[in-house]
Amino acid sequence: MSDAKKNNWTIGEILQWTKQYFSEKGVENPRLDAEVLLSDIVKLDRLRLYVNFDQPLQQQELDRYRDYVKKRVMRLPVAYILGRKEFMGLEFAVNPAVLIPRPETELLVETVLKRLEGCQNPAILDIGTGSGAIILSVLKLLPAATGLAVDISPQALAVARDNADRLGVAERVTFRESNLLTALGEPDKPAGGFDAILSNPPYIKDEDIPVLAPEVGKEPRTALAGGRDGLDFYRLILQEAAGYLQPEGFLAWEIGAGQSEDISRLARESGWTVTDVLKDLAGIERVMVLIIGK
Ligand code: GLN
Repeated sequence: MSDAKKNNWTIGEILQWTKQYFSEKGVENPRLDAEVLLSDIVKLDRLRLYVNFDQPLQQQELDRYRDYVKKRVMRLPVAYILGRKEFMGLEFAVNPAVLIPRPETELLVETVLKRLEGCQNPAILDIGTGSGAIILSVLKLLPAATGLAVDISPQALAVARDNADRLGVAERVTFRESNLLTALGEPDKPAGGFDAILSNPPYIKDEDIPVLAPEVGKEPRTALAGGRDGLDFYRLILQEAAGYLQPEGFLAWEIGAGQSEDISRLARESGWTVTDVLKDLAGIERVMVLIIGK
């Protein structure tokens, strides 16, 4: 497109051009993505873009915006391009070392907040914390809570630590590099055990990995791949978590579409009881709460 070389673009013209270009390249939400990326460059809310349609872009803005557009066309998710994602009304730093927090995961946080109502000083363990979105939201919203967050990836832990600092909860959370709970021991356990153990483990089946959207393919495979049937990490957590939980405590995790029945069976076989299964806004069983025993 020869237009792409032009230098005196206005906000309106460049939005129009990008929308067209993104659709040609198969980007799923061409208009939304163009707006979000341009907003970040010109430092205007999305709505304001339309009030400032005739404002010309400065050369430097144009260069940075072209870089964004190039990345998006290579199917890098918008959140990685901008380096941030909103979750539970909070802003989380993200990079390709961590899974991008999903809106449906907010249901896990909401469920946990409800269940912890009335618990004085809840101690929370998050397995596979990634960006820290789950546990850091809980800590932010429950000022008396403390947490331990583990992840196998030191790069992910660096992102989570950064987020803990930004959200002002760093003094209430400890981070540990660990493959599930294997690097933890008695000293990591609060007296009596954790009140809540949380996780959004990798749950995509091996056979589904090659057909993921190109954007999801840019996310860490270790955060997505759950083995042959997608349930590897549920099995392991059911084995490892019981020893870390208060007798009155609960385990709450996110599950993939269609996995509820199989996971409930695995839970029963390992001595857990499913107390709740919650559906997300798409009507998919997405969050499960479990306790030890019958
Ligand atoms: N919800 C993510 C997806 O479908 C998967 C997250 C996970 O494996 N825990 O892309």
